[in-house]
Amino acid sequence: MTNKKKIEPPYENVFWLKDEILRFDPLRQNLTADLAIIGGGITGITAAKRLAELGASVILLENRCIGTGASGRNAGFVISGPVEHYSRAVNIIGRDKAKRLWSDSEKGISHLIENIENCAIRANAEREGSYLLADSEQEDAEVRETAKAMHSDHFDCDYLPAEAVRDILKTDAFFGGLFLNSNFAFHPYRYVTGLAKFIHQEQKNVQLFDESPVSKISSDGENRPVIHTAKGKVTAQMLLLATNAWTQQLDSRYEGLIIPVRGQVIATAPLDKRYLTGAMYANFGFEYFRQLQSGELIIGGWRENMPGGDAFHYNENIEDKAVQGLLDYIRGKFPQLPKLTVSHQWAGTMGFSRDGLPLLGPLPGKNSIFIAAGFTGHGMAFGTIIGKYAAEAIAGELSEDISIYSPTRFVK
Ligand SMILES: Cc1cc2nc3c(=O)[nH]c(=O)nc-3n(C[C@H](O)[C@H](O)[C@H](O)COP(=O)(O)OP(=O)(O)OC[C@H]3O[C@@H](n4cnc5c(N)ncnc54)[C@H](O)[C@@H]3O)c2cc1C
Repeated sequence: MTNKKKIEPPYENVFWLKDEILRFDPLRQNLTADLAIIGGGITGITAAKRLAELGASVILLENRCIGTGASGRNAGFVISGPVEHYSRAVNIIGRDKAKRLWSDSEKGISHLIENIENCAIRANAEREGSYLLADSEQEDAEVRETAKAMHSDHFDCDYLPAEAVRDILKTDAFFGGLFLNSNFAFHPYRYVTGLAKFIHQEQKNVQLFDESPVSKISSDGENRPVIHTAKGKVTAQMLLLATNAWTQQLDSRYEGLIIPVRGQVIATAPLDKRYLTGAMYANFGFEYFRQLQSGELIIGGWRENMPGGDAFHYNENIEDKAVQGLLDYIRGKFPQLPKLTVSHQWAGTMGFSRDGLPLLGPLPGKNSIFIAAGFTGHGMAFGTIIGKYAAEAIAGELSEDISIYSPTRFVK
């Protein structure tokens, strides 16, 4: 394991990846383990750590460097709930499923905090809550509905009328909002690589490999998964696919079930003082922004203005019109901000599941291959809890019923 200062594309433009990249050696031999994991994002790393705690030997293979997929390219919001406002989720998937999703995301937040504390990770956690801001009267009506539904399901939140939002954020631009005290924001790459460093140093039954793209999955004579890379292969009792947006490239049965969607983000040079406190998302989550305690603004979104919602491709370049759109959006909402200078601009690929619920469980007809993916743009909390559930389910140690997430729901 090394920390190399030389930052190479496609990392150099990403604010979180600008200082250092943690590197592990590629796989260069044939190995065996109880469990193989493909994908070194928050999901795969969380699962690896939990499985090691449960006594399994684990080999994790990452295509690039651990944490440089979506997990190191996001806005660092650790927020509860799915992509939709709670009231909308209730209408779309029903109250029971919405409740379960929300409560699992809260468990994800708690597990993530436990990991930060137990592994002493310096993840720059800024425990300042989150604001869901209404960009229109219609959205405000949904935010009010959301507050009502959340309260009746015993989830903690505070509805803020427009005047309260104005007092807190010093802008008239929003019609109302919801404050969630348990949410926070952090440095996502430091968190994932902090876990990887902990695993490497403390959990000798886990081996992590970077720059080891998996080209094929086959089975041996005993029906065990065999995972092939250019210079070595891994034979395991079980395999976990933690490949989120890229899952369909390894198994075409996931085509149309987990859809790649580009997310575009900019960071500015530090501002002269702190103007915004907390993680904020607005316009039904399409735009999101925060000002770090060190002064920089991180602004993401603009996807609804891109052709086809920016889905069905793996282009990780940011478009000039998205940069301009995000700058115009934030200046329009917060005219009090000083001149903004863009220091970093980047994109990443999210995995949107067809029904907005994560996928967790074995593939139909293949009990030795699990999937944990499809976090629909909210993977910090969900990737954590679904990664943990995957590990416990594989180890036979899970008491939760996870059938709500089973990929078999898509099989007719
Ligand atoms: C711009 C952007 C902003 C976002 N903002 C937020 C946010 O603020 N809060 C939030 O909760 N979520 C956010 N998300 C979503 C969140 O980042 C993801 O849901 C989460 O990171 C998914 O984690 P993961 O480990 O499942 O996937 P990833 O982090 O994408 O990891 C999957 C890994 O699998 C590897 N892989 C793929 N194919 C192979 C192969 N063949 N062989 C080996 N390895 C392979 C990839 O290289 C990748 O590293 C955002 C995403 C983006 C892109």
